Amino acid sequence: MMEGHDLNSLTLSQDLPLSQDSFRQLWDNVVTSTINISSVVDVPQETWRANEPIDMLQALTEEFDENLFELAPETSRDVVTPPSSTVPVTTDYPGEYGFQLRFQKSGTAKSVTSTYSELLNKLYCQLAKTSPIEVLMDKEPPQGAVIRATAVYKKTEHVAEVVRRCPHHQNEDSAEHKSHLIRVEGSQRAQYYEDPNTNRQSVTVPYEPPQLGSVITTILLSYMCNSSCMGGMNRRPILTILTLETSEGTVLGRRCFEVRVCACPGRDRKTEEENSTKAQNGTKQTKKRKSVPALAPNPDMTSVKKSKSTSSAEEEDKETFVLHIRGRERYEMLKKINDGLELLDKEKSKTKVSVKQEFAVPSSGKRLLQRGERSDSE
Ligand SMILES: [Zn+2]
Repeated sequence: MMEGHDLNSLTLSQDLPLSQDSFRQLWDNVVTSTINISSVVDVPQETWRANEPIDMLQALTEEFDENLFELAPETSRDVVTPPSSTVPVTTDYPGEYGFQLRFQKSGTAKSVTSTYSELLNKLYCQLAKTSPIEVLMDKEPPQGAVIRATAVYKKTEHVAEVVRRCPHHQNEDSAEHKSHLIRVEGSQRAQYYEDPNTNRQSVTVPYEPPQLGSVITTILLSYMCNSSCMGGMNRRPILTILTLETSEGTVLGRRCFEVRVCACPGRDRKTEEENSTKAQNGTKQTKKRKSVPALAPNPDMTSVKKSKSTSSAEEEDKETFVLHIRGRERYEMLKKINDGLELLDKEKSKTKVSVKQEFAVPSSGKRLLQRGERSDSE
């Protein structure tokens, strides 16, 4: 009997091989079995054909919201742009007022409590310490405009979950908005919201035009949990979305940045920036590293050349892309493929590193001096 759930079990039960197979092969496997399903539908059995394809269609469209058709015509505009989307938008949008953010240059000293990385578009701050964020506009937004701060999980697999403080930090706080991760400091006019549909929390503060002689307005945010808090963020990276909105809640502009709340913002920023630069430069960085020529037994120059020629391809591979996938089932399937490939990459890079460390290569490809030969510099 062909039923809707057969489709589920077929696609989900596929064990994706973590072998050296190419993505092409992997993909062909997946696609082939999907095609098989549809060819089953075409089996010429008169009694079966009469009913089953409809059942299947129903199963496939189960998630379709039938209430869509019951909406009165005047509210149909809301269907196109729902007042509060389940998954918040995280793309930058300066809008007609040219909404922009600027962060103070705090450096990476050990003592710094809040610092921003341009390179990673990421704010590093300590728990409950104030991070000043400068807001710039090309022109004055309408009267009553507000700035709203919302936190969301960065990774697709976590984005559906609402960001809140961990139970521990909530319990030791008596504030009314104690469950909110983001706080606005220094303003009596900050307002804390929880969306009744999505349960997402946010905080708004009225936009104030820059004071005389200044072009910026500063808002003060603080984050009330560490990124590592168990039962809260639990090491999952988050983004802060700042939106410029009218008093009615229409979005006029949007800016996003990643946030890590940690004990040593300066150190973590430095480390992550270095790692990112290393990843960008790929093997070039490894080559630059100085080594002790005297210890080089017999440098394998061909392996060095080889890794250099592949470095640009590796750089390209470091680029990340966001793929929007319709339907959880399909998402889980593609995620499995991606997880497999990531694992494969990890394994590959492990072996690569160990190979590289075996040969201490003379810096900048210097020839080893043969016995009796004189170096140019002598
Ligand atoms: Zn916490």
